[in-house]
Amino acid sequence: MSGNTDYYNLQIHLSEEQKLIQMATRDWVNKFVKPIIEDHFQKEETPHNLIEELSNIGAFGMILPEEYGGIGADYISFGLMMQELERGDSSIRVVSSIQTSLVMYAIYKFGSEEQRKKYLPKLATGEILGAFGLSEPSFGSNPSGMHTYFKEQGDNLVINGSKMWIGNATAADISIVWAKGPTGEVQGLIIETENITNFTTTVIKEKWSFRASKTGELVFSDSVISKAQLLQKSTSIKDAYECLNIGRYAVAWGSLGIAMECYETALQYSMERLQFGKPIASKQLIQKKLTAMITEITKSQCLTHQLGILMNTGKASFQQISMAKRSNVKMAQDVAREARQVLGGMGITSDYPIMRHMINIETLITYQGTNEIHELITGRDITGIDAI
Ligand SMILES: Cc1cc2nc3c(=O)[nH]c(=O)nc-3n(C[C@H](O)[C@H](O)[C@H](O)COP(=O)(O)OP(=O)(O)OC[C@H]3O[C@@H](n4cnc5c(N)ncnc54)[C@H](O)[C@@H]3O)c2cc1C
Repeated sequence: MSGNTDYYNLQIHLSEEQKLIQMATRDWVNKFVKPIIEDHFQKEETPHNLIEELSNIGAFGMILPEEYGGIGADYISFGLMMQELERGDSSIRVVSSIQTSLVMYAIYKFGSEEQRKKYLPKLATGEILGAFGLSEPSFGSNPSGMHTYFKEQGDNLVINGSKMWIGNATAADISIVWAKGPTGEVQGLIIETENITNFTTTVIKEKWSFRASKTGELVFSDSVISKAQLLQKSTSIKDAYECLNIGRYAVAWGSLGIAMECYETALQYSMERLQFGKPIASKQLIQKKLTAMITEITKSQCLTHQLGILMNTGKASFQQISMAKRSNVKMAQDVAREARQVLGGMGITSDYPIMRHMINIETLITYQGTNEIHELITGRDITGIDAI
């Protein structure tokens, strides 16, 4: 019998450091996340103490060089960490991912040296938390149409507009906000929550997905910040998309983690649950489900590992990242649904993590580019015809 979720033995390709990062994260999640997360999810509460601890396990900015607080880790290590964190809950992976992919990466890639030195070490230790504001109430899939803009006024910038669905909106000390400048091009701004006027944030209450993670709105109404807060090297919306690439890469690995967790839960349950005098695992239709799950997981693992190799060599195209995000999330959705059925009635209870993961996947399907938008990205890539 092989209950191994690494069915094609991909771990033989992992370095000792990659294995260490994976196993240390898995242990941390088993010890600290799993015992408490269901309760937080039910009560719509963020586990703040765990978020503080994420910095101690290197989950903030690990892919950045050491001089900026990272550990210079490669993209497969980063992916494995995202996978293991999301086995616990999306809310934990998403904090690490926003901080690393969308905030620290943005400042590292598009900030001045002064901005890097000012913010990155503090973000790496978790002394400050970040958010990423691209989506708007009327511009989700089409962020380039955004209404948020800024004008120059002496040494300051005056911002108007609003950002919707922003993870960590109310908890963030800084937000990377994308807005149209005087030339009409989109540029990134570093908003310090403490150093901006006429600025408000509100939480979107009673969401049914990502319940242990706060999502909110950022509202700018003639809000004033210093000109020094412009991300010095950002010139167009493509810069925001470049950050999203790292975010989507993290979602691809994270959804794999969800699928592995749901499959393992279903496999174990099927061996223990007796019906008609035998474990349900002895029934052909249950084996069919388990077989389909491990097959799809294995295919996704191969795809995702290869994507990691491409990322490490700087050769991953955004279309390849897009495909992995879309395909892994869809795979995780199918696996979670089948796993839920294997558990019968128990599958809908909070004794098991499957229903919580299923609900979280609804956000994964939609955010960082919807399933449809990613289908159209691949469609455009293979036909040369833009159907978006
Ligand atoms: C929990 C959560 C957290 C989020 N966190 C962040 C964050 O931190 N920062 C941030 O900037 N954003 C964030 N988002 C926003 C997210 O990126 C958007 O929700 C997403 O881009 C989709 O935008 P929308 O919700 O406005 O849907 P819409 O763009 O209105 O889409 C609605 C439907 O129409 C479809 N559709 C749209 N255009 C086309 C087309 N051309 N062809 C076919 N179908 C189309 C979509 O696929 C979708 O099914 C978050 C969202 C959620 C739910």
